[in-house]
Amino acid sequence: MTKRDYYDILNISREATPEEIKKAYRKMALKYHPDRNQGDKDAEEKFKEASEAYEVLTDPHKRELYDRFGHAGLQNSGFTGFSFDDLFDSNIFGGFTDIFHDLFGFGMGGATRHERPRRGSDLEYRLPIDFRQAATGIKTTIEIPRHEPCPACNGEGTKPGTSPILCPYCKGNGQIAHSQGFIRIQTTCPHCRGRGKIIEHVCPECRGQKTVVVKQKLGIKIPPGVSTGCRLRITGEGEKGTLGGPPGDLYVLIIVREDDYFKREGDDVICDVPVSMVQAALGDEIEVPTLNGNQLISLPKGSQTGDTVKIKRAGFPRLKGFGQGDQIVRIIVKIPTNLNKRQEELLREFQDIEKKKGARKGVFNLFS
Ligand SMILES: [Zn+2]
Ligand SMILES: [Zn+2]
Repeated sequence: MTKRDYYDILNISREATPEEIKKAYRKMALKYHPDRNQGDKDAEEKFKEASEAYEVLTDPHKRELYDRFGHAGLQNSGFTGFSFDDLFDSNIFGGFTDIFHDLFGFGMGGATRHERPRRGSDLEYRLPIDFRQAATGIKTTIEIPRHEPCPACNGEGTKPGTSPILCPYCKGNGQIAHSQGFIRIQTTCPHCRGRGKIIEHVCPECRGQKTVVVKQKLGIKIPPGVSTGCRLRITGEGEKGTLGGPPGDLYVLIIVREDDYFKREGDDVICDVPVSMVQAALGDEIEVPTLNGNQLISLPKGSQTGDTVKIKRAGFPRLKGFGQGDQIVRIIVKIPTNLNKRQEELLREFQDIEKKKGARKGVFNLFS
């Protein structure tokens, strides 16, 4: 494939000034930018072509090589053309981010020379709640520590009354050029990290961090049925974006405290209820606690330890979908330990009857 002439690509004269080159490229980039021509290979090619032409013609050294020797001159100097990845990943082309910022109001990748709008970070807030609150849901107020621009320095990071100075290392360019024969490489200035300016006197309030942590109150509503590990997303309540970027989101991580009495299995509530030996044998009406107050249940005659009684729809509301879990009451039969004389007499009498009844049955058939 023969390469087209860079001046032809940008439709400019060979005497074009840097300003004219920039203007011509801006026009091309706006027209062929991949975001505006999704999936259009031809536009993508044109965009790359124009970007390469711009890259070469705005670099005086490369332009001179190109003017004198054409494409061959650049190849000999180590410039192998232009790859799309370079545009997005490399900070060699610091100039591109400038023009993209101007053109589209957003940045194009790794270069740090210019600050660009950024979405704020997401925040996580761990919220412990009680077991019963998890069942009923709650409204509560939490305090979110967010980074805000430091009020003392207006987020500049400089001591009030002072300003940043030009980086003495790169003289404000943000880039440092290294030359080796024909090859000239630009790298980000390590001293100012490409910003071109450094802060000499830092703001004592934020110690030059430009932000301070401010706690802000936020009312939130936890729906009924949540469990430990649930993450509720609250859109736009994370850290603020920078330079007009959108804020991040806040995630509220639920941690449900254990309950002394209830346990949870799925959406069911499990509890152990002790009953006396006699209640278990004869059956009874007993009162058991539920998430919504006490409730009477009937204990069937001959209940055993480990038997369960179900209270329908007394469990957790299902977070997704309709309905509600159940409460499962597990019966624990208690053997009396402090019988009075009369009770003991009665039990001995009971035993005598059992002995006569079950003389031939053996120990494993007791009480059957
Ligand atoms: Zn510097
Ligand atoms: Zn400050």
